[in-house]
Amino acid sequence: MATADAGHVPDDAELDVPEGTEIYRCPYCEYPLQTERLWILHLGIEHNSKMDEAQRARYEDEHDEETHDLFTLHVKLTVVIILLYFGLTYSYMFVWS
Ligand SMILES: [Zn+2]
Repeated sequence: MATADAGHVPDDAELDVPEGTEIYRCPYCEYPLQTERLWILHLGIEHNSKMDEAQRARYEDEHDEETHDLFTLHVKLTVVIILLYFGLTYSYMFVWS
């Protein structure tokens, strides 16, 4: 887990948000985020020490969900790589033998 002040948003970042776009803006650094899930993850990573208990519980739920989604993506990518490997290996065997 990242530390509270690690920060991935550069201080001099110039962000251009189109008019009329629904965004979730960070109350601490004004950083615009596209979804509520990204907003709560941003709070947990960037401003962890400033969060209240409700936000922290929500962040932990969203973090668990994000971790699960990332694990699922990795499993899917592993299956695709294995299928590609065997597909290319069998193709090679039939073409070159
Ligand atoms: Zn922020």
